[in-house]
Amino acid sequence: MSISFFPTPYPDETFYSLLARYRSWSRISNLQAKIDLFGKRKRKLGLVLPGDLENLYSRLPADSTLSPQILIDNHTILPIFYPFIASSDRTKLQDVMVHKDSTCVSQHFAGMSNYISDYQRVCPICLEKDEECYGEPYLHRIHQLRGVVYCPDHKVSLLNTNIKNDHKSAYQCIAISKNVELVKSQFEIPKEYENTLCKVALTYNWLLNNQPEFVESKELIRRYRCLLQKCGLISVGGNLKFNNLTKEFKKKFPVSYLKECHYYDICNNSWFYIIIYPDNNIVNPLRHVLLMVFLDVIPQELFSSDFPNVQVFGFGPWLTTKKMDWGKRDKLLSDEIKKVAEEVKSQPGWPIRITKALLERRIGICLYDSNFISKLQLTQKTLDTVIEPIDIFRFRKIAYGVNLLKLDKKSSFSELLRKCRIGTDNPSPIVKMALMEALNAIKEVAISNEKETFNAPTN
Ligand SMILES: [Zn+2]
Repeated sequence: MSISFFPTPYPDETFYSLLARYRSWSRISNLQAKIDLFGKRKRKLGLVLPGDLENLYSRLPADSTLSPQILIDNHTILPIFYPFIASSDRTKLQDVMVHKDSTCVSQHFAGMSNYISDYQRVCPICLEKDEECYGEPYLHRIHQLRGVVYCPDHKVSLLNTNIKNDHKSAYQCIAISKNVELVKSQFEIPKEYENTLCKVALTYNWLLNNQPEFVESKELIRRYRCLLQKCGLISVGGNLKFNNLTKEFKKKFPVSYLKECHYYDICNNSWFYIIIYPDNNIVNPLRHVLLMVFLDVIPQELFSSDFPNVQVFGFGPWLTTKKMDWGKRDKLLSDEIKKVAEEVKSQPGWPIRITKALLERRIGICLYDSNFISKLQLTQKTLDTVIEPIDIFRFRKIAYGVNLLKLDKKSSFSELLRKCRIGTDNPSPIVKMALMEALNAIKEVAISNEKETFNAPTN
């Protein structure tokens, strides 16, 4: 039996949050929500890697545009595994999520707690903004990933809610409220590591949203080794210098953070086996993300089909800039920024402002890192053209708002402000002028429509 309503997912919303909002909006019990959505009373809800999607899909309202594939790609964490698993395995895992239940799904991943944080987490700024934009808060996928301690959008520390990501929660659907109790994480991050850990969040976010093609583990190892060699971490004989690598790695990440990532065994050389032995088992993508950040390589380069065969690139504090193909990187980044800006602008629905933070989140690179960005002149130029100053963005909002306003000669200035979501607190003279022009245009069209109707022959 179909349900009569299902919430529209918000950007990056977790599947669990979606179910919890369904329950909260329907004002029904947890049990009833599970019966409505899956037809089963005793059902474990996957927190980040759910199952039974076909079953849910068959119950969605007829006009729903959601499909199991959309739910998997946009609302579960499966995409972080995509670049590390062969496409046949990817299809197998997707099939399990579509046709089998959540318990069966979790059997395919070793220890779910290695992938997600202990508590459901939020970014205090996202919480406020979501409330403002959508009228309710929700859980973001990126904030739940273990190893992500900063919000990639706002660069602020994530906060724990009082809801644990445990077995008990997996059977409940609890939506977060705007008054949710928020607790600071127990471990402190020294200031000097902030930049590094923001890069972890950005890299993970890029993987989650861009889903690069799978790179064979043998080839991936070759790429890692190229980068390690340039850092002086491969001996002349071609062996990995484990001790140096461990030492450098521990310098790059604070120990408290590695413990939080469940990687306190970092001293154990086996942690680095992913860069020596090809492995067909599912490796926690966090290992790869930490390695990428350690090697200062951006995911779009590591997974690029034209990663150099012999010549090595990648950069780090120990590398000189001569070794880096900055021209190539400059072109790659500049093109990607243009592409993202175009995509954002052509997206249907309410306009989204193109900001540095938005580009960083979509591209997965710290664009405020002056050491890095000062070497990329083309990228800098592109940034200057695509980043929207507030007034320019307001013009786009006006254009959108005008379409929403019913053509009416009585339309008022305040009505237009409301439709365009422009605050009444003194818009700049240029914006005021654009609003007045838009308003006059609406009135003129309304009047001419009226005349036409009046003059239309009556037969
Ligand atoms: Zn945020």
